[in-house]
Amino acid sequence: MSTKHDSTQEPTAPAATGFSPGFAALGLEASLLATLDALGYEEPTPIQREAIPPLLAGKDLLGQAATGTGKTAAFALPLLQRIAHGVKQRPAALVLVPTRELAIQVGEAVQRYGKELRISVLALYGGQAISPQFHALKRGVDVVVATPGRALDHIRRQTLKLAHVQTVVLDEADEMLDMGFADDLDAILLQTPATKQTALFSATMPPRIKSIAHRHLKHPVEITIAKEPVKAGTAPKVQQTAYVVARQHRGAALARILDVAGPKSALVFCRTRVEVDEVTAMLNGRGRRAEAIHGGMSQQQRDRVMNAFRSGQTELLVATDVAARGLDIPHVSHVINFDLPSSAEVYVHRIGRTGRAGREGVAITILDPREQRLLRSIEIHTKSKVIVAQVPTVADLRATRLERTKTAVKEILDAGELEPFLAVAEALAGAGRPIEVAAAAMKLIHRAQGGEQSEQEIPGPLSRAPEPYRPQPRSAPYQAGRHQPGDRPGRLIMRPGTRPPAGRTTQSAGEPGMARLYVGAGRESGIRPGDLVGAIANEAKVNAGVIGAIEIEERFSIVDVPAGMAKGILEALSRSRIKGRKVPVRVFKD
Ligand code: AMP
Repeated sequence: MSTKHDSTQEPTAPAATGFSPGFAALGLEASLLATLDALGYEEPTPIQREAIPPLLAGKDLLGQAATGTGKTAAFALPLLQRIAHGVKQRPAALVLVPTRELAIQVGEAVQRYGKELRISVLALYGGQAISPQFHALKRGVDVVVATPGRALDHIRRQTLKLAHVQTVVLDEADEMLDMGFADDLDAILLQTPATKQTALFSATMPPRIKSIAHRHLKHPVEITIAKEPVKAGTAPKVQQTAYVVARQHRGAALARILDVAGPKSALVFCRTRVEVDEVTAMLNGRGRRAEAIHGGMSQQQRDRVMNAFRSGQTELLVATDVAARGLDIPHVSHVINFDLPSSAEVYVHRIGRTGRAGREGVAITILDPREQRLLRSIEIHTKSKVIVAQVPTVADLRATRLERTKTAVKEILDAGELEPFLAVAEALAGAGRPIEVAAAAMKLIHRAQGGEQSEQEIPGPLSRAPEPYRPQPRSAPYQAGRHQPGDRPGRLIMRPGTRPPAGRTTQSAGEPGMARLYVGAGRESGIRPGDLVGAIANEAKVNAGVIGAIEIEERFSIVDVPAGMAKGILEALSRSRIKGRKVPVRVFKD
């Protein structure tokens, strides 16, 4: 049987409450739906929609899908649901992947998806000491994610026994064959029961993949996603650029790209609700006026956000695909994909928000090195070219900022009306250094516009270990939300056990006109900066962009707000709930 994803399928309606109807319709049980909800997934990706039902029904599957399409969840969710209710003999599932990095990544993903079901997962890969692996295998694990070489090693030592395996997944099978694992795969599969379910995923389907599928899969359901080219003329004519950045640097890359592009109005797309909140908080922390919009918000909240965006009060709208789908969004100069969408259809839909009615549009995509294949397939399906560029360097950023200062000065010069200043300039230039006087004035403007902020280079995709963490300068406006190399992109770093600094180190609080508010809930209650930004923006009806530094401590948080708004914000917060509960709020005193 061969199924094909139907791109005309009606999108799932955003659910303000409850779990995603899209995932529920696939037959997933409540605990998995709760996990997906907590991860902020709003609807299944095409491969998930196609693969989950047959896999849940115990069928074998041959799926053509690249990294970035959501294929890990497509095989992990059914696998978890089946083994949670199957015979409890371990290991119940084996996932084979080509590399150590993937073993770790897929292992973590399966663990994340199986958290509610309390399923244990172990990643086995070469280069890792073998004896801790013996102990872990001896204790027993439900799912083993392994590279073929290391799996075979354990099988030979009889430390990995596959007699009770119910499901085997061959992930990135073409890469495994490219790496010379064909014989190992055959040898491993020989050790598994004939009754098992097998799923094979591969980005490409050359004859040798077909042959391995023929040998090991029983009447597989075949799935090919987005085979059909997008209809001619559907893909808008916009300048498309992609930046390849390791996942942990995505947040920093986004901030840098925005700093250089300087869009007046942009739409930033993320895959999940959680990411939307994190990115919004990160951007606001860097002084941008950004607002989030996703399926977890009420209609009233969405209307407020949209009105602020339409009126220009908000410059960046950070959205999930589901939330953006039903919206009448005005023309934006830039569409930014914080990550590559899971299919060509979604990509076309996203970038169609710019370059409308003959106007110029720019689409920018940030992607992980592993997602380059998906990008190529999107190019083929959309019949368009995406230029892959380097993330702007610190020198690029400085040059752009200087150019902006120059343009600003030129505009003032052209507009004239310089009378009160001419006398001052003449007096200063009297000493015979008119050019230096002009340069000093430029420096002053440049500094006032933040042009002298120190920045760090963002490593390219081939960079090895992350740079050592260097604290940001005193002017960093976002204490809790600093981006730390090596951490998750846009992830907000909390410093456990630290107390608020006695002397303020953040720009906003140190500045006249800002007040510090104490909020009696912190990390312990699961508070994140996005919760505080959301509560203040929604309850006190203020633009999120005015909120300054946020510090999240163990039991409390400190938020900087404009002093003139502090009273109103305190009143609004004291009437409302944060994360479902009332919390004490007051002006903070060190
Ligand atoms: P994969 O292709 O499995 O490597 O997944 C790519 C990325 O998409 C991962 O970061 C997943 O967390 C994310 N993802 C997978 N499925 C969904 C979904 N239905 N909605 C949003 N994000 C998803």
